[in-house]
Amino acid sequence: MRLDKPREECGVFGIYAPGQDVARLTYYGLYALQHRGQESAGIAVADGRNIMLHKEMGLVAEVFSEERLSRLKGRLAIGHVRYSTTGASHPVNAQPLVFYCGNGMLGLAHNGNLSNGLTLRRELLGTGAVLQSTTDSEVLVNLIARLNGHNNLPAAIQECMGKVEGAYTIALLTGDRMYAARDPFGFRPFCLGKLGAGWVVASETCALDAVGATFIRDILPGEILEISQDGPKTHAVEKASRRAHCVFEYIYFARPDSNVDGFNVGRVRREMGRQLAREFQPRADIVVPVPDSGITAARGFAEASGLLFEEGLMKNRYVGRTFIQPTQQVRDLGVRLKLNPVKEAIAGKRIIVIDDSIVRGTTSCRIVKMLRDAGAAEVYFCLSSPPIIRSCYYGIDTTDDELIAAHKTVKEICRFIGADGLHYLSLKGLLRVFGEKAQDLCVACFSGEYPVNIKDRDQDKFSFHRPVLGVVG
Ligand code: SF4
Repeated sequence: MRLDKPREECGVFGIYAPGQDVARLTYYGLYALQHRGQESAGIAVADGRNIMLHKEMGLVAEVFSEERLSRLKGRLAIGHVRYSTTGASHPVNAQPLVFYCGNGMLGLAHNGNLSNGLTLRRELLGTGAVLQSTTDSEVLVNLIARLNGHNNLPAAIQECMGKVEGAYTIALLTGDRMYAARDPFGFRPFCLGKLGAGWVVASETCALDAVGATFIRDILPGEILEISQDGPKTHAVEKASRRAHCVFEYIYFARPDSNVDGFNVGRVRREMGRQLAREFQPRADIVVPVPDSGITAARGFAEASGLLFEEGLMKNRYVGRTFIQPTQQVRDLGVRLKLNPVKEAIAGKRIIVIDDSIVRGTTSCRIVKMLRDAGAAEVYFCLSSPPIIRSCYYGIDTTDDELIAAHKTVKEICRFIGADGLHYLSLKGLLRVFGEKAQDLCVACFSGEYPVNIKDRDQDKFSFHRPVLGVVG
């Protein structure tokens, strides 16, 4: 079953820990970040001078064997798990990217999406640059390498940050040091941890926990951090007009055990469920989550409503991404393989189903039918987020065309999915969960108000594949 969810972007991990098995620790870190990208995985290790790299398509555990890891010896490393937002799902686009530059080798792992990536790529190609991938991440590394003429990497990163727009958290690797940078709006999460005498950076704190590192702090929006034998050193903090942390990290992307920019994701999700119950409470018997992403919000809903929480849908966690779905019949069966109703819990009950979001509505439709077939008396579908009405240009793979809420009213969507009622958490209610920190959030996919101008509005996942003819200005 193809999940009807916005697709995650990527996960980034970096470690500076001479004397430790940095490749293995990066492997563990990436394992914890697997939910952020399942298409490819890679680790680049530096030994003080050179960088060694291994990356392939597949899950972390598929890409790295014991033998592969034992060959990656060094003092510092960066790692990446990828879901493609620009550039196809192809081995050449797997990260980290590693290049020979004028001042030595350079590796880069990137999470996010440049909203002017297409323009910058065209400019680079117009000057004769030769690019090997179709990702905006290569634009970043190319710019940094070009701007590093005086072998002052922090200054080159800073200058690059003045040119690129949109969302990016990056871990950069040279032969003997690591840099971490976060865009001035702080779209994607990025944190710093300490591991013995070493240091770790990661997209989420769950990766720090996985390697036994202690959380030190979030990397600041706009910050350029250098990590070497002297420890972490902040070179600059580029300012933006505001912050714009992606609210979807809390709704769906990040793991509930992660802390992102001052909030525990699980607690936020629970509070969203409580808020939902304050806004909408039909006469019902049980609250059933759509596993796994709806579970925490459903608990909050059950607490606030006093209704019984029932695990009425069971998820088979072993249905992989390679599941083949050639026909409608098999596609329907695919839902049953991934999700199965617990008939004894459901039959004769009025059910409130809690999910985090709807993109196309196709999976919600199947879930409602599945519950009715299992004997549910009434099915009310509730979402712990507002309707998604606009595409994201900051690292999430959604397009206006596929967003059901961009084209239908709530009533029409309710009819489409076949529920007795449909309720979305209001935007006001969502923001209330964050108190005064709500002003630091990006909610553009719900409101249409984009915090960063979208220069390349026509840029899609495959724009970078199209040839550039002539000189482009
Ligand atoms: S548009 Fe939506 S998904 Fe994209 S960064 Fe903003 S809140 Fe997140």
